[in-house]
Amino acid sequence: MYFRKELTFSTDRHEDLVDITSEINVAIVESGMEHGVCNIYVPHATSGVLVNENDDPNIIEDLLGVLRKIAPEGSFLHDRIDGNGDAHVKSAIIGPSESIPFKNSQLLLGTWQSVMLCEFDGPKYSRKVIITLFTG
Ligand code: ZN
Repeated sequence: MYFRKELTFSTDRHEDLVDITSEINVAIVESGMEHGVCNIYVPHATSGVLVNENDDPNIIEDLLGVLRKIAPEGSFLHDRIDGNGDAHVKSAIIGPSESIPFKNSQLLLGTWQSVMLCEFDGPKYSRKVIITLFTG
């Protein structure tokens, strides 16, 4: 048995990490499923999904800082096409999905963990996040 829902988020900054944990937990409650696995997937080539801390906002800046060092803006062949080669590389490093178990209709995250949508080529009005829940 599975349940699928598409969520849409807008991003305000060129690069950002947006906490989407509560929206995912709402979708799990809406599904009526109590336990299983939740896959979170972004169908975009310049964004990603990761799980990390969102309590100290410096962690977001630290992560973005590391990615900027690995993939500096303006240093890629793809920049000749639409100027966002760095965003594609950052997206590939982070990856487009995470799978997280859920119990009592809530993600089984650690105290300091949040699910974050990663924007590398914003701001964008419409970033899709596809939630797929599987249960036995
Ligand atoms: Zn591109």
